[in-house]
Amino acid sequence: MPKLIFEKHVPGSNAFSLPSSEISDQAFSEQIPDQTNFGRIPAQFLRQEAMNLPEVSEVEAVRHYTELSTRAYGVDSGFYPLGSCTMKYNPKINEWAARLPGFACLHPYQPADTVQGALQLYYEMQEMLAEIPGMDGFSLQPAAGAHGELAGVMIMKAYHQQRQDHKRTKIMVPDSAHGTNPASANVVGFEVIEVKSNPRGLVDLDDLRSKMTEEVAGLMLTNPNTLGLFEEEIQEIAAIVHDGGGLLYYDGANLNGIMGVARPGDMGFDVIHVNLHKTFGTPHGGGGPGAGPVGVKAKLLEFLPKPVAVKEGEQYRFNYDLPLSIGKVKNFYGNFGVIVKAYAYIKALGAEGLKEACQHAVLNANYLRHQLRDTYHIPLDRLCKHEFIINSKKQAENGITTLQIAKRLIDFGYHPPTVYFPLIVSEAMMIEPTETESKERLDDFIQTMRNIARESVENPELVKQAPQQAVIKRVDEVTAARKPVVKWEAGV
Ligand SMILES: *Cc1c(COP(=O)(O)O)cnc(C)c1O
Repeated sequence: MPKLIFEKHVPGSNAFSLPSSEISDQAFSEQIPDQTNFGRIPAQFLRQEAMNLPEVSEVEAVRHYTELSTRAYGVDSGFYPLGSCTMKYNPKINEWAARLPGFACLHPYQPADTVQGALQLYYEMQEMLAEIPGMDGFSLQPAAGAHGELAGVMIMKAYHQQRQDHKRTKIMVPDSAHGTNPASANVVGFEVIEVKSNPRGLVDLDDLRSKMTEEVAGLMLTNPNTLGLFEEEIQEIAAIVHDGGGLLYYDGANLNGIMGVARPGDMGFDVIHVNLHKTFGTPHGGGGPGAGPVGVKAKLLEFLPKPVAVKEGEQYRFNYDLPLSIGKVKNFYGNFGVIVKAYAYIKALGAEGLKEACQHAVLNANYLRHQLRDTYHIPLDRLCKHEFIINSKKQAENGITTLQIAKRLIDFGYHPPTVYFPLIVSEAMMIEPTETESKERLDDFIQTMRNIARESVENPELVKQAPQQAVIKRVDEVTAARKPVVKWEAGV
């Protein structure tokens, strides 16, 4: 096991050097009393002894963290077919754009006339985002997909309340939905009703019809759904919900399967969020910042989170004067750096490029599905969009599970796909290759998956014991979940 930075501690080592101060501590606190905490923090809360911090030289500190960085697996290190997460390659020019001093060094309270360029970008992003899924307006405030859902469901609630329609206390969510959908509806105070999927993996219309009562505020839907399948009866679904007085929410976390080709706004959706950090070429994972802008049709514009950027003549400014707005959902204006990256991405690709990205994402997924169907069971084996599902039914004869196949992929240098989701398919493995992978890379992955299927027959123990090549091998997941040790303590 690699050593922790604390275990590399050598007393007296130092990673910095500062000139000695010309001002004594005492003189400092007398001169600028507000700048020191000593007078304000009650004595019982002050640290009594020096913090136990590791001492290492600069070069050892650099080596330590460089070494750690090579242990993290990302899109820049290899294929990452994590379904529902769209781990596409993020072009580095987006980072360049976000770091331009004219964007990176702005102060959020700068007067509007000194930040016209940033405001123009913000405004144009609202416009472009509205056009891509066919909505009438967007707010760029929400910081993530789930946050966009929260804002979107708050908008649905505000809409019904504004109409004095107070009996709508429920929201419908299909059983294939991403877990954030019922969670968001719940946080806003709605009771969640589950809508069943039919044997084809799509919304069961009879079930939907029977549940669409005047107590229902709307339906949250992903299309293509989490099985990678397009809801072919979407117009019928929209009619059922709208005729019942409800609104249709589109979970647009993954627009990769339809962007440039079909528009949720044309399908009848009223509210949508999109994940800039999935579809629009900005990094995610590891807790980095995201952006989940929320968009609406015209009748819901006045409920959008504020502020939104507006253009008056040739001038741009933020508009806070939205009396029916659900309010602010984030400090300042959202994660501006992420918005700049996504803007660079959309501008670089253009309308044709976005469409091509979508088509390649769908082509890659169908190519993989086709090449894997002889070795793996595919529960809903028909044309998919950007992702599809296989499971370990064929390998189960040799006692092999989906988890073990996923762990074995790690030995071959691949990040495993999403496993055990969606919940309606047993032993599910959800594969999303994205458009940025070459045929050569996909062929290598296919070969690896076939090798693992062969190993499952010839040497099942090898698969069951995987991963053997990783720094961390099999972990005790139950203990890790029940008794997590998340901090290091000296001598423990
Ligand atoms: C990723 C995802 C979300 C949530 O997005 P976050 O940015 O992780 O909050 C919601 N719905 C679907 C379908 C997703 O794939």
